[in-house]
Amino acid sequence: MFQCCQEKNGLTDKPDIKDLTQDRLAAWLEERGIERYRVQQIFKWIYIRQVDRFQEMTDLGKDLRDRLASCFSIRRLTVQKLQTAEDGTRKFLFRLADGAHVESVLIPERDHETLCISSQVGCAMGCAFCLTARGGFIRNLTAGEILSQVRDVCRTASKNRITNIVFMGMGEPLANYDHLVYALEILTDSDCGLKFSNRKITVSTAGLAPKMADLGRDTRVNLAVSLNATQNPTRDLLMPINRRFPLEALLDACHHYPLPPTRRITFEYVLLADINDTPEDARRLSKLLSPLKAKVNLIPFNEFEGAAFRRPRQERVLGFQKILIEKNLTVMIRESKGTEISAACGQLSANALPRQEDCF
Ligand code: SAH
Repeated sequence: MFQCCQEKNGLTDKPDIKDLTQDRLAAWLEERGIERYRVQQIFKWIYIRQVDRFQEMTDLGKDLRDRLASCFSIRRLTVQKLQTAEDGTRKFLFRLADGAHVESVLIPERDHETLCISSQVGCAMGCAFCLTARGGFIRNLTAGEILSQVRDVCRTASKNRITNIVFMGMGEPLANYDHLVYALEILTDSDCGLKFSNRKITVSTAGLAPKMADLGRDTRVNLAVSLNATQNPTRDLLMPINRRFPLEALLDACHHYPLPPTRRITFEYVLLADINDTPEDARRLSKLLSPLKAKVNLIPFNEFEGAAFRRPRQERVLGFQKILIEKNLTVMIRESKGTEISAACGQLSANALPRQEDCF
């Protein structure tokens, strides 16, 4: 199944063991006549005790440790740059084994921290208001790379304070479905995984309607939908995915989404001055959402150089929110954190050329 390989020039091209599901690792062990219960032991070393070397797995025999070490690696992402904003938001620029880059953002809240992670290098969705879209799509992250963002940030920063994970960084998580679902499995595994609660994990989608149904079937995490417009012509222009899955199909998928009791779908709505921020938009939005178990996150546009849009004035944002509240919707205005280090929604690009002294 996996070719064993030699170390070359100090770099390893052995597969990352974090890319293996429990079943695949069990199959690898079985081929070598080793019992399945070792899988749990190995996973606990990786995700709970978070060791870097197979030799540290002291409840495995030396022979098994050697065999694991000759076939697999336990990769860490390289932190190429770490920036801290005045509000405490920290942005990690990670370099992956093939030299590609992704960003993760750690956002302080009152009594916990939220980690915003990436699911792809770049993004293929092409949303007109998003900086990540400008670089185009490079590749999917592996499950191991998704998990490594969480594991590595938990190790370097505020270990026990990170309670919430949001897939709102670079990429479209539902376009990298299999790796996403496997990563979610390990993130929420309370026995030998990273032990996050399903209720504290949110997957955000630009609206891949058929995959939303899959997510509802395969997982128990929260769903967020980036709606951003209330009419097809506007949404077509802002989010090209709307031409494949227009509002009708998207909202139909929301209606059929198997929500666990007491949960709601979050609808994100980027407010763009004079594009989608009128009182009529607010009224249409409330109409679209009133039959659903929904809550709304309004995100005033985060500007970046060369952007074709502007952030609405604050009165406009508050007026939009007021109309929704009057229609009994729960509405939050998402204050943007870390804007001066380009760590806010839609500002991740991972194209910064870091200076050496920024690295550690
Ligand atoms: N592809 C996924 C997740 C990444 S984007 C999705 O589309 O949901 C995360 C959120 O940031 C989305 O709701 C998106 O609409 C929003 N966003 C993107 N660019 C933005 C910007 N410049 N200002 C404010 N929000 C933005």
